[in-house]
This record gives sequence, structure tokens and C-alpha cells, in this order.
Amino acid sequence: MHRVVCPGSFDPVTNGHLDIIRRAALLHDEVLVVVGANRAKHGMFTVDERVAMLEEVTKDLSNVSVGTFRGLLVEYCRARGVSAIVKGLRAVSDFEYEMEMAQMNYRLAGIETLFMTANPLYSFLRSSLVREIAAYGGNVAALVPPAVEAQLRVKLGSPGTG
Ligand code: ADP
Repeated sequence: MHRVVCPGSFDPVTNGHLDIIRRAALLHDEVLVVVGANRAKHGMFTVDERVAMLEEVTKDLSNVSVGTFRGLLVEYCRARGVSAIVKGLRAVSDFEYEMEMAQMNYRLAGIETLFMTANPLYSFLRSSLVREIAAYGGNVAALVPPAVEAQLRVKLGSPGTG
């Protein structure tokens, strides 16, 4: 059984995340999508809300499950028998930080990190931009799944621009 994790803050999950999760699910037996709870209180959505949205948008993927982790990701991986961390790389700007993290996680626990290049359709997409666009009433329908768009409207208390 080859089990991998897709970690992130997912505040909220975007089409870019979902693209990586779907592609990872084709390549690995089991994918655990995990929301990091360490710094979550500074975000827009609570950890429970992020998990609920991820569960909704991955419900058609039978080998994907959603969870949370607190503390070191490598400890979570060790405890769950995870063989690798899967991360999406959008641009060169992601690379330096991700390489450092990957090397540190390998040093700490011998956990490998596998990188998937972002779908060019979504390489500009990050959750913080989605939050900002939505907060100013912009249309995020092409950037996030419909369930997430609906939750953004609820959170921001606006009808959106449709
Ligand atoms: P964000 O930068 O959107 O806040 P997260 O911290 O939740 O994202 O990222 C979790 C993982 O998803 C990271 O590996 C990140 O590189 C990847 N990721 C985020 N957005 C995209 C995207 N648009 N395309 C591919 N991978 C992405």
C-alpha cells in the first residue's frame, strides 16, 4: 500500500489544489489530504470548515481522504505509514522554499517529497488571492469549486457577482 499526503492550509481549497489532488490520486494507492492546524487560527476559514470543503470537493475520489495535522508533518507521516509528501510547484518562486522543506523533512525522518508541476491553467492561483478577490466582490467561479464559492459568499456575507 503506497500512501502519500498532500499537505497545505487549504484556506480555502482551490481548483489548483484539486488538480494536484486528482493527479496524485491517479498515481498512488491512497492520498491523505491534510490541513495544517498549527497556524490555522489566523486564516479565513476554521480548520473544520476547510476539512468540510475538502471532503465535499473530493467525494468522488474513492482513494482520497481528508484529515488534519498539528505539529510536525513528518511525525504525522511516520505515525500513518506515509511514504511520501506530494506538493504542487507553481513557479520558480515556490521552488526555493519547497526544496528547503523537502530536504529538511528527509533529514528529519527520511520522508521523500514528490513534486508535481502545476497545471498552467492554475499556476497563478493561490488561496490568499482567492480570498482577496472574493472579499472585494470579484468573481471566483473559475478559480474554486462551486461548493467553495458558496462558502466564500456565506463567510463574506455577500451575494457575490455571479
Ligand atoms: P496556497 O499557497 O494556495 O495557500 P497551500 O499552502 O494550501 O496553498 O498549498 C498546499 C499545496 O498545494 C502546496 O504544495 C502548494 O504548492 C500547492 N498548490 C497551491 N496552489 C496550487 C496551484 N494553483 N497549483 C498547483 N499546486 C498548488
